[in-house]
Amino acid sequence: MFNTLAPQILFQEVPDEVSLGFTVMGCQLRCKGCHSTDTWSEDGGSPLTAEIFRTYLKQYVDYISCVIFFGGEWQAEKLIEMLDISHDFKLKTCLYTGLNQVPEKIIKRLTFLKTGPWIRELGGLDQATTNQKFIEVSSNRILNHKFQETH
Ligand code: SF4
Repeated sequence: MFNTLAPQILFQEVPDEVSLGFTVMGCQLRCKGCHSTDTWSEDGGSPLTAEIFRTYLKQYVDYISCVIFFGGEWQAEKLIEMLDISHDFKLKTCLYTGLNQVPEKIIKRLTFLKTGPWIRELGGLDQATTNQKFIEVSSNRILNHKFQETH
């Protein structure tokens, strides 16, 4: 099962893109101070099949430029299937992971990658002190400054 919460249109999680974001259930990382403990169980949300995902993308493709998955790297083959479908729709792709590294077979399907666990003392991408990185995969450039420009 590859369960997700209902998708949301997002404007800030990927700079300069309008994204459709899917939160994948079953994160095992248990970051202290996690804001999304309701996503730790694999059982919540509802199953995202290829067919359902395509239906969502057909519905939203005219309004978005990118698809974000919040987690899901723990089910790499399912995540890869969804990333490949996103490419069929000519959409950019992004993964938000709490890991510092993910397998190359996932990275090569991503336009953007956010890495690193949540550490409350260091803050998120909008803080200069953060341990997290937002990376443009093709150039390997770190784009954290785009989250910090208003601070
Ligand atoms: S990676 Fe994200 S969802 Fe998972 S425990 Fe850490 S903060 Fe929570």
